[in-house]
Amino acid sequence: MKTYEALVIGGGPAAISLVKTIGPKLRTAVIRPEDHSLIYCAMPYAIEEKVPMAKTFKRDELVTDTGAELIRDTVSSVDFDARTVATASGAVYGWERLVIATGARPLLPPLPGVELPGVFTFKTEDDMKAIAAAIDAGATRAVVVGAGAIGIELAQAFVERGLETHVVEFAPSILPNLVDADMVEEALADLARMGARMHLDHGVSALREHGRVEEVALSKGEPIRFLDDEEAESGESDAAPRGIVVFAVGTRAETALFAGGPLELGPQGIVVNGRMETNIPGVYAVGDCVQFASAITGELAPGKLATNAVPMGKLLGAALLGSKVEYRGFYNGAATKVGPWFVGGVGLTEAQARKRHEIMVGEASLTTTFPIMPESKPARLKLVADRATGKLLGAQIVSGAPVTDKVDQLTMAIQYGIPVAELEYFSYSSQPYQSYYPADNLIVHAVRAMAPRPA
Ligand SMILES: Cc1cc2nc3c(=O)[nH]c(=O)nc-3n(C[C@H](O)[C@H](O)[C@H](O)COP(=O)(O)OP(=O)(O)OC[C@H]3O[C@@H](n4cnc5c(N)ncnc54)[C@H](O)[C@@H]3O)c2cc1C
Repeated sequence: MKTYEALVIGGGPAAISLVKTIGPKLRTAVIRPEDHSLIYCAMPYAIEEKVPMAKTFKRDELVTDTGAELIRDTVSSVDFDARTVATASGAVYGWERLVIATGARPLLPPLPGVELPGVFTFKTEDDMKAIAAAIDAGATRAVVVGAGAIGIELAQAFVERGLETHVVEFAPSILPNLVDADMVEEALADLARMGARMHLDHGVSALREHGRVEEVALSKGEPIRFLDDEEAESGESDAAPRGIVVFAVGTRAETALFAGGPLELGPQGIVVNGRMETNIPGVYAVGDCVQFASAITGELAPGKLATNAVPMGKLLGAALLGSKVEYRGFYNGAATKVGPWFVGGVGLTEAQARKRHEIMVGEASLTTTFPIMPESKPARLKLVADRATGKLLGAQIVSGAPVTDKVDQLTMAIQYGIPVAELEYFSYSSQPYQSYYPADNLIVHAVRAMAPRPA
């Protein structure tokens, strides 16, 4: 039996950043079932055919160049006493330290018809290939359930591919965990202008069939039909799928392997401390499979993002080599693109913050460049802070230019505890192509506009 100083279950961003940090300093192996690790964030753009599907595949050398061994297999059980894992192919490996990086699986709600051909989730290479194949085989309609970033990016891909595209979302707005509804009114209007049919404040109640999904029943109003009236009446249609349904309604930590065992699990995943240690000595967990708190509220929070998984992997790698650094929790800086709009945010939205804080809010609208420049586009920022302490709780930005740098600046302010009032005097740069006039700055402007918001 081969034994490793560090054995990693999973080959996603958490695992890769861990082995890149460890390098050859420990005898390490990564066990991963897939043909390729994926650049998940680019998957919607492969469906859109903006990037070739093969470009979403990561190179195995990202793992093997670090000196780690890559084992293509699935772990079927873990024996925490014997310090071994068994795999689907019948192999057994020993470990001194075990790192669980099994990620999360997409949720598929228990609705009638979700098992039908033509119904998908969107995470794996197989999902991506099956959805692309359904479009190539003639699907003309798509229903995306969930208007989070993945759902919205996928819906735009379907529109671009010429499908009649419907988006069904429980919330009254899009991207409800990233931005408040008032921030994305224009983006929503642009989505509709592009051709997406939005069913906000609606749920899917059932999927109906004749051998494959043919009708999506909604919680209210008319169902979405994939067949025209004549076909529906005759009960006949050709063999090609007419429509696809993709559920993008969130993910759940992949912990099935550990159910009923000694590993401590919480409602959102494997319980770890700031050093990524589980309740079992020598066993660690990182990435989407763990449960952790928001670094802003200290309360358990969802944080299934690559930008959380990667720092956890890096931090554990450093800790295994002797560093004393500790993980503080999720900030959830994230961004997406809706039509011409770059949309991003960090921390709590106003709607989320007002549930637990007395808040103040500052908003500013400037332009992405000097307004006299022909490229100038609107940019809008909203800051949310705790009224009593002045602690910045969250920020949202919608702009005609990329927003990740602004999201990162504001994440840094939150992470390093800069009171919102101090940001009024932060020192910024300015240039006609790249910012507003030296006289003002979006963040400074929003701080100056801070005012209490009634509960
Ligand atoms: C379409 C899409 C778009 C996204 N866009 C963004 C984005 O723009 N920005 C962002 O920050 N995040 C984005 N995410 C989220 C991000 O991809 C995840 O947060 C990230 O992949 C989590 O990394 P991880 O390593 O923890 O888990 P994963 O990437 O899920 O990797 C888990 C690994 O564990 C393996 N595994 C599971 N069980 C076993 C087993 N029993 N044996 C062996 N291996 C096992 C899996 O096969 C996989 O290799 C997106 C996700 C998707 C699906």
